[in-house]
Amino acid sequence: MFGKKKQSAAWIRRTHLLRADEYECSACGSRYKRPSVQCPNCGRIMRGSKHDPSWVDEAEILDIWEE
Ligand SMILES: [Zn+2]
Repeated sequence: MFGKKKQSAAWIRRTHLLRADEYECSACGSRYKRPSVQCPNCGRIMRGSKHDPSWVDEAEILDIWEE
């Protein structure tokens, strides 16, 4: 057990000059055109809160989910 905290991850925005941005799962590395609340590949819940820096520290994190 890793404690009662649920595993979570975040979208890392990958910007490209010649094509659309992608969003990469910080947990499994899968990339998608659009961010979702849950990674379709590994199933982790995506969080964007700045006050929880434990899951990623160097990545550029989306503040909110843009629709
Ligand atoms: Zn994932």
